[in-house]
Amino acid sequence: MRDFGGIVERSPARMIRPGSASEVAGAVREAAAQGVDVVPRGLGHSTYGQSLTSGVSLDMRGLTGVEVGAGQAAAAAGATWREVLAATLPHGLTPPVLTDYLDLTVGGTLSAGGVGGTSHVHGTQAGNVASLDVVMDGDPVTCSPTVRPGLFDAVRGGRGRHGVITGAALRLVPAPERVLCCTIPCRDAEDVLRVQREVRADDVTSRALPSDDGWRFEAKAVLYGDGREPPPGTTETEELSFFDFCDRMRPDVEELVALGEWARPHPWGMVFLPAPRAAAVIESTLGAMTTGDLGLSGVILIKALRIGGVPMLGAPRDPVLFSVLRTASPGCASVPEMLAANRALLDRARGEGGTRYAVDSVPG
Ligand SMILES: Cc1cc2nc3c(=O)[nH]c(=O)nc-3n(C[C@H](O)[C@H](O)[C@H](O)COP(=O)(O)OP(=O)(O)OC[C@H]3O[C@@H](n4cnc5c(N)ncnc54)[C@H](O)[C@@H]3O)c2cc1C
Repeated sequence: MRDFGGIVERSPARMIRPGSASEVAGAVREAAAQGVDVVPRGLGHSTYGQSLTSGVSLDMRGLTGVEVGAGQAAAAAGATWREVLAATLPHGLTPPVLTDYLDLTVGGTLSAGGVGGTSHVHGTQAGNVASLDVVMDGDPVTCSPTVRPGLFDAVRGGRGRHGVITGAALRLVPAPERVLCCTIPCRDAEDVLRVQREVRADDVTSRALPSDDGWRFEAKAVLYGDGREPPPGTTETEELSFFDFCDRMRPDVEELVALGEWARPHPWGMVFLPAPRAAAVIESTLGAMTTGDLGLSGVILIKALRIGGVPMLGAPRDPVLFSVLRTASPGCASVPEMLAANRALLDRARGEGGTRYAVDSVPG
């Protein structure tokens, strides 16, 4: 069995698809009695074997369903964010933070952290959970900031090591009907971070793209609602429905699947950098990189955010998530070369007071 990274392979001794929290508890108890590891798996979109095991693999997609109440949604851990959004939008509501890609599971991203374009305002998905249903030591329990707060802190960002999330009460906020996406070209990484700090946007993220003389930078500032003026420096605008904006990766994914790039190995490097050191690390990393080090469909993302209240992430204050999302395309750097580059990036980030986003691909 592989994951989206396509680098690590494991053959599970057993695969179970529980359909309820009590079935999860039963599977965990049985595995513990046999001394076998149990690893929950959402859709396996982590990139270095985090969701893989040679013990018991729990396919959490057996737990689905989303119920919307007053200002909250109760989501089963195996539901995807697409399914959550499909349930909340008819009520004019949305989770405050959505990942750029909707086909990830609630349990998977809460176990990772879950960063999105609104994370400069709302923090991570893991920071917007009111309570969690968790199987710990074979027993189903509920935890929240006031009930079993230690467990609540251990499972959010805990990658399944401290309990299996079976359900989550997700905070909801009003959803806009339409959004205005504004492209703002930036001079360099420092300028990107300045725009992210100063722009009054509901959603903002930035990319570095290959150009004739190295890399060019652009910020995407997204304004919710009608009649908003594009921020200074905007060169292009596009109006979209909120759902189409949230689902913006779908056409690219379809193209990557058709090109075969989606199935190639994805040695992703992702680090949280302290904001004051971020531009220097980003510039020097990109300065030493060619497009072949990124791969044909690789992407570089830069996102300043708030982490607040998710201790397992271990991120610095005022973090910037620098994502070097590599694809090992034919004719580009090899997987071992890309993994070595991720290791070097993580070592550099740690030297500057940063840390990893642990769904990345870093050996050792
Ligand atoms: C195309 C793409 C786009 C992405 N975009 C973003 C983004 O915008 N923002 C972002 O933050 N991340 C993003 N990610 C990374 C994503 O957060 C991780 O892949 C994450 O692992 C979620 O994927 P998953 O649901 O498939 O979980 P998996 O990869 O299956 O699991 C992730 C980890 O959580 C554990 N786990 C899974 N389910 C549970 C559970 N119910 N209880 C306890 N532990 C569990 C697993 O054991 C594993 O350690 C993206 C990934 C891809 C491939």
